[in-house]
Amino acid sequence: MTNWVYSFGGGKAEGSARDRDKLGGKGANLAEMARLGLPVPPGFTVATDVCRHFYANANALPDGLEREVTQALETLERQTGREFGGAGKPLLVSVRSGSRESMPGMLDTVLNLGLNDKSVEALAKASGDATFAYDSYRRFIQMYAGVVLGLDHSVFEDIIDSVKQESGATRDGELTADHWRTVIDGYKAAVIDELDEEFPQDATEQLWGAIRAVLKSWMNPRALTFRALHNIPEGWGTAVTVQSMVFGNRGEGSATGVVFTRDPASGEDCLYGEFLPNAQGEDIVAGLRTPHPLSKAQASSGDAVSMEDAMPVTFQELKDVAKRLENHYREMQDIEFTIEAGKLWLLQTRDGKRSARAAIRIAVSMAEKGLISKTEALRRIDPASLEQLLHPAISPDVERIVIGRGLPASPGAATGEIVFTSEEAVEAHGAGRKTILVRPETSPEDIHGMHASEGILTIHGGTTSHAAVVARGMGKPCISGAGAVRINAEKGTMLAGGRTLHAGEVITIDGTKGEVLLGALPMVQPELSGDFGKLMEWADGIRRMKVRANAETPEDALTAREFGAEGLGLCRTERMFNDDEKLRAVREFILADGGAARDGALADMQAMQEADFLELFEIMRGMPVTIRLFDPPLHEFLPRPGREMEHAAEAMGIDVERIRQRAEELHEINPMLGNRGVRLAICYPEVIEMQARAIFEAVMKAGEKTGKKVVPEIMVPLVAYERELKFIKDRIDVIAKAVMEKWGTEIQYLVGTMIELPRAAIRADKIAESADFFSFGTNDLTQSTFGISRDDAGLYLNEYLRKGVIDRDPFITIDVEGVGEFVQMAAERGQRTRPDITLGICGEHGGDPASIHFCETVGLHYVSCSPYRVPVARLAAAQATLANGTDERA
Ligand code: PEP
Ligand code: MG
Repeated sequence: MTNWVYSFGGGKAEGSARDRDKLGGKGANLAEMARLGLPVPPGFTVATDVCRHFYANANALPDGLEREVTQALETLERQTGREFGGAGKPLLVSVRSGSRESMPGMLDTVLNLGLNDKSVEALAKASGDATFAYDSYRRFIQMYAGVVLGLDHSVFEDIIDSVKQESGATRDGELTADHWRTVIDGYKAAVIDELDEEFPQDATEQLWGAIRAVLKSWMNPRALTFRALHNIPEGWGTAVTVQSMVFGNRGEGSATGVVFTRDPASGEDCLYGEFLPNAQGEDIVAGLRTPHPLSKAQASSGDAVSMEDAMPVTFQELKDVAKRLENHYREMQDIEFTIEAGKLWLLQTRDGKRSARAAIRIAVSMAEKGLISKTEALRRIDPASLEQLLHPAISPDVERIVIGRGLPASPGAATGEIVFTSEEAVEAHGAGRKTILVRPETSPEDIHGMHASEGILTIHGGTTSHAAVVARGMGKPCISGAGAVRINAEKGTMLAGGRTLHAGEVITIDGTKGEVLLGALPMVQPELSGDFGKLMEWADGIRRMKVRANAETPEDALTAREFGAEGLGLCRTERMFNDDEKLRAVREFILADGGAARDGALADMQAMQEADFLELFEIMRGMPVTIRLFDPPLHEFLPRPGREMEHAAEAMGIDVERIRQRAEELHEINPMLGNRGVRLAICYPEVIEMQARAIFEAVMKAGEKTGKKVVPEIMVPLVAYERELKFIKDRIDVIAKAVMEKWGTEIQYLVGTMIELPRAAIRADKIAESADFFSFGTNDLTQSTFGISRDDAGLYLNEYLRKGVIDRDPFITIDVEGVGEFVQMAAERGQRTRPDITLGICGEHGGDPASIHFCETVGLHYVSCSPYRVPVARLAAAQATLANGTDERA
């Protein structure tokens, strides 16, 4: 019985696409393709259980594995009619990793395994091409020595370079079998030099070395970083797929390539990809040779010959296979293929990585064609990825000084300082500076730098090179293959468009067009209609929760409406005092000794607030607007000691000593736990009375101006005692009555509270007696539940994340077991007192997809988040409804 090893090939397979967990994505899909009767080189997959066993047992392999591998090899020999390590017709294999989720380039691979001093001669004879055979052998030694024996590849490059120099060759392709023999002798000697042992000649020994190396690569630093960034659990492990080799480097009529069944940047329904004649797959991935386009349509812009032109029959075959696979998986595929002497072989298929824009276009078009349902289309889009579509692109009507061109590898535009190394990118990011990472090509070692930069520009490589694939996954703009740009790493300069640019100078890259531009350019908002609009419409038709935005400026409110917000869930009134004149009024209020000066300052503040509220009400046209009364401690409005304080004193015509003294009186050791929120309102009720008056006056005026009735929702922050809320509500009611009398009209309004302290959650039933609504302030609720400072926690939470003490930052994704428990408790208790109480969330979690799922399960009525997150929240809320089974149509 098979425990560890699963064979595939010849129209049959043990396992199928459903077995990703066991066989990894690659192994599962190879099995599936074999079952479909597609041309897959036969092989077998060592299951992920082996990897788990390996790490649980101090790198020991499980009993029985050796026997199963031997049997699978025998089957493979029978299927191919070749002999592993034999001197007749040698069987060569590739040994590849395969995780459940693809981790491009992170794990190790060995190709051409099975070659040795004897089998290489046999290969030369069987293929009739000695150059090919010896080139394959030297590739194998080089790869095996790097991956399995741990030798630095520069040793080998020096050897090739010296042979090239002696022979006068400039390219690898000019070297003959004899040259390669010399190179191989050099390689083998280098192995002895470095390791004091011979390069292994026994194919079985080679195979076990490679299997172990692939298993070990699961824990290499690149893989660890990648998994941390993509939330891939360590416990998944990698499978190891051993597959008979086919060769794309057997001269004319041979090639290797990658094809996407749709354009991964735009999502257009057309074959898209690259191929390299007479090459092995690694040549494309490494980005060292610039590949040719696949189709005529792709080739139209350049002078390279497409595969469609060069190999029309195989191209058609590939096209048919691609369509078949896409229809079978009902998903865009990314397929690796090799053509050996005119015969097409498929080496891998997987769901293709794509830009957010392409993902939407593909999902919408598949749903419209009936290939998938609309709900499936909604499920397929990662809500967080929508944010990249909402970010600005270069303004169309500005002058662009193009200093370089390359392939449009990942869409969007970004501006930043030039950096030439990933380390510099990380350092600049830490200092809050934006960068563009400029590299000859990227490798998995650059993942940190790519993450830290705004965009990536590479000199080599195609649209499926490492830089392109990773940047698309990260949603960052990328240009690859900008061949005319020259980097001088030593001097820290690059030559582009006839200019020498130094590290630190600013450029802009347009990843949609593939243009490198001089300087920083103005950006514009993206188009939100078309497929994006359709998807949002479908989401809106499904979701149960409403989506509001946190906004207090007219610009943010307008953006929020544009992005589909259904109201404002949090208007932080203290942020409305950001400009100098407004700040001055607040400072006058704080510094006044009482009497007329204080009243005057309050009157000024009221006029300012009223004008601001009126503008917001006008923009929101009758939608709910939640206005939160003053929250932060007063001293935050005073200037900082030193120059700032002196300037302020001068501007206000008062003595600087007066400000200093007042600042001292207001000083608190722990201001976040201090006199803020409702406490401030109780100490200075005149402030919230002023705010209430401004709100009601603005309501009346907005109603008159727009003809739309405004029902303001007045929200009290940081309530803990039920009597605090009652105290404030009574005052608001008095002001409301006065304004109504003045205008001779009724005003409808709601008074509610934030639930952002544990006591409030516990006493929610009592608090609900004075509250029309609760809005969960999960920023403060997280801070107060954990007793950690939201402003400083980053320092140690990162350490917690790194050391696996926590899986998620609780300020980003709600801590369901702790903070979530308070939310649930307060929701239930509040509803017990007041079944029709409105429940919402306005902490940062309101825009986080995982937290939105939690809000759905608690039954909140709305989430409120920053304007740019509104579309994210609309989609996440729809997915939450679907996941929670709250939608009957699903
Ligand atoms: C909160 O605490 O979650 C909240 C929304 O209020 P603020 O962030 O303004 O304290
Ligand atoms: Mg708060």
